[in-house]
Order: sequence, then C-alpha cells, then structure tokens
Amino acid sequence: MPQKISLRIDGELIHTAGQRSILEVALEHGKFIPSLCHMKGLASVGACRLCIVEVAGVGRVLPACSTPVQDGMAVTTQSDKLRRYRKIALELLFAERNHVCAVCVSNGHCELQGLATKLGVTGVRYPYTFPKIGVDLTHKKFTLDQNRCILCTRCVRVCAEVEGAHVWDVSSRGVGSRLVCELNRKWGESRNCTSCGKCVQSCPTGALAEKGFAVEEMTKRTEPISRLTALRGVRP
Ligand code: SF4
Ligand code: SF4
Repeated sequence: MPQKISLRIDGELIHTAGQRSILEVALEHGKFIPSLCHMKGLASVGACRLCIVEVAGVGRVLPACSTPVQDGMAVTTQSDKLRRYRKIALELLFAERNHVCAVCVSNGHCELQGLATKLGVTGVRYPYTFPKIGVDLTHKKFTLDQNRCILCTRCVRVCAEVEGAHVWDVSSRGVGSRLVCELNRKWGESRNCTSCGKCVQSCPTGALAEKGFAVEEMTKRTEPISRLTALRGVRP
C-alpha cells in the first residue's frame, strides 16, 4: 500500500496516497491544469509541457504529469509566469506545423484549438516554419495528416500499451521529428495494425481521423479507451 501523504495545491490541504502524479491528484480535486499529451491510464511522458506547475523551493517549473506528489509539497497551478509559459508552448506548437483550422476535420472539436482559446492565445509571435510534410491516406479506414500532429504521442502509447500492436513511433529529433508507422511503412501496409481506431480516438487534433468525415465533422470518443485502461489498472 502506498504511504499516505499531505500536500497543498493552490493553498488547499490535500491528503492522498503517494506514488501518484501532481496532475492526477490536482485534477481529482477540481484544479485546472492544461495538458495535451496526458491521457488517463497511459504512461506519462511530459511531451507537451503545458501541465507545468510551480513547487515551493524548486527553482524551475515542473511537469505535473511526470512529477510525483511528495509529503509537505506546496504546488501552484496558476500564476502569471505559468500562464505566460503555457501560451508560449501553445504558440510554438502552432508555429511548428501547418494548422489550418478552417479546413480541418476537427475544427471546433480540437483540443489544441480549445486550449488556445481557453488560455487566451490570440496570435502566434513566432515565425511559422511551414514544414513540407504530407498526409498518409493509405489505410482503408483512417487518415494521418502530419501537418496537424503535435507529437503528443498519445497514439503511440495507446497502440502499444492498450492495443498491444505498437504500430506508431517517433523518428528523428527536434523540429525534424515525425510520427512513423512501423519503421516508415505506409499505414495501409502495416503488418500489425488491427484497425481498432484507438489511436484515432485518442488524437487531440485532426492529425488522425476517420475517413468519410468533412470539415468540422470529426469528434473523438475517448470513453471506451478510458474504460479499458480502468479495467487493467490506472497508471500514476
Ligand atoms: S488502429 Fe489500432 S492497431 Fe492500428 S495503429 Fe491505430 S491503435 Fe494501433
Ligand atoms: S497523430 Fe495525434 S495522437 Fe499521434 S502524436 Fe500526432 S497529435 Fe498526438
């Protein structure tokens, strides 16, 4: 049994079991911490850097999803500094790819777009990189549009950890990073894909979508995945 600990989040005294992440405990207590890569039940990777929080006595911000709670910790989830950093992180995501919301299947149902609106991102202060990256339409049921991918790796983790197929990975580094299917096969030529659709439903943007949906029509359904991860025991 994990040891019981006490900590403060935004001044509120909270008693909880140890070995859990700050994000998990904070969300459970009604706090708002934005995130795009986190998905309950999947391993935490700290990829999007939106869930940063301040911890008293620590000189840098920490990702709440991959920082465990500790006894006596004092966590701040909202401050001018955090709001500033989170906006920068979102703006960089927009600048790094070609997010043209007006023609996206997920327009109006996109977590990236929703968070940008919620956090007051009204423009991007960084030069757009306009990378030349394509789409993969070879799968019989689904589409991959790398222009809209934010490399959150939810698809990678859900496919490997829940479906057990491990079709996806991320190749290269930095701005050259790309989502790849089975050592760079076209998705339609995948040997392991079961066409279950878990990656599509867990994708926070329009990067992965079902075929046959037009602009604004694609909504994602994560509840069935949550039910599956709950059955096998939730990760911290
Ligand atoms: S459809 Fe299922 S098996 Fe195929 S890539 Fe997506 S999650 Fe993996
Ligand atoms: S395709 Fe979607 S789920 Fe996969 S890494 Fe890109 S944004 Fe995340």
